Amino acid sequence: MKFGTKAIHAGVEPDEATGAIMTPIYQTSTYVQEAVGKNKGYAYSRTQNPTRHALEKNLAALENGKHGACFGSGLAAIDCVIKMLNTGDEVVSTGDLYGGTFRLFKTIFEKYGIKFHFVDMTELSSISEFINDKTKLIWVETPTNPMMSIIDISAMATIAKQANAVLCVDNTFATPYLQNPLDLGADIVMHSVTKYLGGHSDVVMGALVVNDDDIAKEMYRIQNSSGAVTAPMDSFLALRGIKTLHLRMQRHCENGEKVARFLANHSKVENVYWPGFEDHPNHDIAKKQMRDFGGMISFSLVGNKLEDALDIVSNVKLFALAESLGGVESLIGHPVTMTHGAIPKEEREKTGVVDSLIRLSVGIEDAEDLIEDLKQALS
Ligand SMILES: *Cc1c(COP(=O)(O)O)cnc(C)c1O
Repeated sequence: MKFGTKAIHAGVEPDEATGAIMTPIYQTSTYVQEAVGKNKGYAYSRTQNPTRHALEKNLAALENGKHGACFGSGLAAIDCVIKMLNTGDEVVSTGDLYGGTFRLFKTIFEKYGIKFHFVDMTELSSISEFINDKTKLIWVETPTNPMMSIIDISAMATIAKQANAVLCVDNTFATPYLQNPLDLGADIVMHSVTKYLGGHSDVVMGALVVNDDDIAKEMYRIQNSSGAVTAPMDSFLALRGIKTLHLRMQRHCENGEKVARFLANHSKVENVYWPGFEDHPNHDIAKKQMRDFGGMISFSLVGNKLEDALDIVSNVKLFALAESLGGVESLIGHPVTMTHGAIPKEEREKTGVVDSLIRLSVGIEDAEDLIEDLKQALS
């Protein structure tokens, strides 16, 4: 089955009781049993719920995986992956990481004796020095935030296999429409469903998809034991959002390219970071592992003045100044004052997060209107 057909049909059966074509919102905590130990497959909604179950099967199909699990947020999904580890284990992680993931690793799990190494994974040769016999997990995020660097997932899978470690890829920015990490050798793929999958800025949710039956067993054990599960209503909204994922992503990519090219030709713009440009440092890897280049763009300004960037983010009228990404509406953000403020200036400037850097989540409005808005804000 092709992607668009799966997005609409995978995991979704007409309701057995009524024939309803949309999976109902099974707003129930428990299920009446016919006899002790005899139920219709559902016993308690933390463990499983029919609406969530349909969504989990749908997500697994989109990532070409066997087992899906949904969580109360993207961070709760990441929390589940780290809980598969033991005290003394080590993790090698992408350095240019989503801030919330960094905070979870450093301020929650380090105190339980798990050690994290943050490395520049675009330099494959620099990774081996962080790998030893305690390395149990390699954590990859690609494209990275906000610099849109691309990490070679197949190469990381080879490194993980040699180290006997599990490879998990945060696929939030790319979505399964653009890249499928399990097909490239990853063991676990993670999503913040909050972003493109939900797509309408109305749900906070996370997900994991795996192929391996043993990893799946651990994943479901932790999902049920820690209990950070998704509500039936939110599962319904995510299922509904996913039905148009392929259409939305197509438009995000088209608009992303138009906006990126407009910015690249603007006299006040210094650098534009978008993996579709042939002179992007990781363009070849992006072409190899992604089907298209997405709608996430960062750019810096000539003169690199903080005030200029703040002027632009407050002068746009269509782009909304907000955290998050991946919704139908376009968003604009200033990493230095919004998401990356806690990182020391020298540290962040080393990775390119300079004072004038602006990040765009290009939505699915008409590109001409978006470009018009940026044009007036830049002048
Ligand atoms: C938003 C995001 C997360 C965290 O997801 P939440 O749903 O906000 O908990 C993790 N990784 C990436 C890349 C994200 O953009």
